[in-house]
Amino acid sequence: MIRQNNQSPKEKGGERESQTINQNQKSHHFNSRKPNPRHRTHSGDTSRSPQRPAGPGGSTHKRNDGPKRSFGKQSHHRRPPQASKPSKNHKTIPPLKKGDIRIIPLGGVEEVGKNMTVIEYDDDILIFDAGFQFVTEEDAPGIDYILPNTKYLEERKDKIRGLIITHGHLDHIGGIPYLIEKIGSPTMYCRNLTAIMIQKRMEEFPTVPTLDIKVVEPEEKIRLGKLSVKFFPVTHSIPDSMGASIETPQGNIVITGDLKLEHDEGVPSEKEEEVWGEIGKNKNILFIADSTNVERPGFSIPEKNIYRNIGEIIKNTKGRLIIGTFASQFARMINIIETAEKHNKKIITEGRSIKTNIEIARIAGIYKPKEGTIIPVDQIDNYSPDRIVVIATGAQGEEFAALMRMANKTHKYIKLNKRDTVVLSSSVIPGNEISVQKLKDNLYRHDLKIIHYRVSDVHSTGHGNAGELAWINKKVGAKYFMPAYGFHSMLKVHAEVARSIGMLDKDIIVPDNGTVIEIRDNGEKLVTLKELAPSNPIMVDGFSIGDQQEVVLRDRQMLAQDGMFVVIASIDVKTGKVKKSPDIISRGFVYLRESQDLLKEARVIIKKTIETNASGMHPINFEYIKNNLSDNISRFLFQKTNKKPIVIPVILGV
Ligand SMILES: [Zn+2]
Repeated sequence: MIRQNNQSPKEKGGERESQTINQNQKSHHFNSRKPNPRHRTHSGDTSRSPQRPAGPGGSTHKRNDGPKRSFGKQSHHRRPPQASKPSKNHKTIPPLKKGDIRIIPLGGVEEVGKNMTVIEYDDDILIFDAGFQFVTEEDAPGIDYILPNTKYLEERKDKIRGLIITHGHLDHIGGIPYLIEKIGSPTMYCRNLTAIMIQKRMEEFPTVPTLDIKVVEPEEKIRLGKLSVKFFPVTHSIPDSMGASIETPQGNIVITGDLKLEHDEGVPSEKEEEVWGEIGKNKNILFIADSTNVERPGFSIPEKNIYRNIGEIIKNTKGRLIIGTFASQFARMINIIETAEKHNKKIITEGRSIKTNIEIARIAGIYKPKEGTIIPVDQIDNYSPDRIVVIATGAQGEEFAALMRMANKTHKYIKLNKRDTVVLSSSVIPGNEISVQKLKDNLYRHDLKIIHYRVSDVHSTGHGNAGELAWINKKVGAKYFMPAYGFHSMLKVHAEVARSIGMLDKDIIVPDNGTVIEIRDNGEKLVTLKELAPSNPIMVDGFSIGDQQEVVLRDRQMLAQDGMFVVIASIDVKTGKVKKSPDIISRGFVYLRESQDLLKEARVIIKKTIETNASGMHPINFEYIKNNLSDNISRFLFQKTNKKPIVIPVILGV
């Protein structure tokens, strides 16, 4: 495991202990059934600080179990619960043959997030995006983010010619501060706003050396090693989004980044026709495209409709207007401010990520508010209510975000009343349904008016629906197709969409993270190697980064589910008898004071297990007795309570 900094040896020891303990826990099941106490944030939201203070690194159960304690055993690392896929050979990947093209999605094809795609030709490697993924408390309690596994690149650092970043959302840039040095700090290529967003974020990582970023323009062509890369603009929810076309002797590889289409009732705009028409003129060998929204049919709602609707709301609302949105909806946020300005209204921004992104827009020269348009929140009562527009974070019901604080009356300055209108300009991200419901209920307690995406078009996604993706795919007209950016189900649906427009099954590849794809024989052959590039996820857990934290995670899941049960017994090393009644400590399992009978029976089993095993044993094998004790107590507790707490036996030899 690679540890970034200040992880004390004691903490490491704690984790190792946890692993040994886990050997006694083979029988546990890991069905996640707890509601999610933390929130999925939209991939582009920068509201969560990546550098929260590290708590104890991993599990630190204290153990004091006699002189024979050994730490030496290696435990088996199991993955945290996730969709199963066939296991593949992680062994040596054969060297790339001259003239062949290799494509490896290192992340982003089994999830929405942690996007990273590798394209390799001869001695040159290009990397597209370096994102991270937000995780749910259920899947990975206490883990902050998951990063793509870059081992393949670390072993081929000298071949890397550049890291191209398609746009400034965190699922495309979030991994940079953690990964950039590991892959040899290559030059990065991106557009202006993206560059500023990356730089701004780096302020939170003062120990990472200055990045080498080159700003490129759409339509610009750069040469990286033997490959030429031409950029093109795409429509997404953040300005300066781009795709790239990589020229290889076998044909071009077109990679979209995140995108949708600008259109009118399903008719793409002239700008789109022009961009995609131009790309379609090339001999395109492979098309790699965004799958995030492919499960929705037809065309997505154009952002201009959203602007129109929110514009009407801003114009006509008589009381104060509070708009909850994602900070990642960069363009919309700016549009809201400009519209408010037009109607002589004042803007209050609430939430760190929104403030940061407005500042970034200003630096990038995308938008310049008039003097006095944005006012500090403590001046809210200096203006008549119909002149106030608040843009706030927290539309997903995040507990401490601005909107929830207003809703539950803990906001210092904004006290809601029945003349207020709240617009939830966002969809509900799966997993956040309960918290969004809570938010709505708390808002309605103030008898105010709520407008959300189900009653009016006040939100649209940044990702194209199936109709848009099919249109783009046809325009590009590549020989092969690889759906990317999405969960496996989305990729499969995207493959179906490609078949519906006439692509052949054999020309479509649905990859997993780490799948090694090669195009050979002057574009005649599309091959998937049986070897897989390392792809187990890298977790960011406080200050530590690594791919071996499954055991810690498993403990956290079990603790969250059924708690823990610690048994402390003293044993006379000469006679093998238990001295005095064993101590029992439990947390999150049952209420001990009301479980005296259970404890009494447990003590009998503890005493019996130890003495049966220890009598006549010289010297006493503590490890063996602990395993037995753990098994017996776990079985007993499960029979009595139908719960499986972590059982930690501590045996003291006296
Ligand atoms: Zn995006």
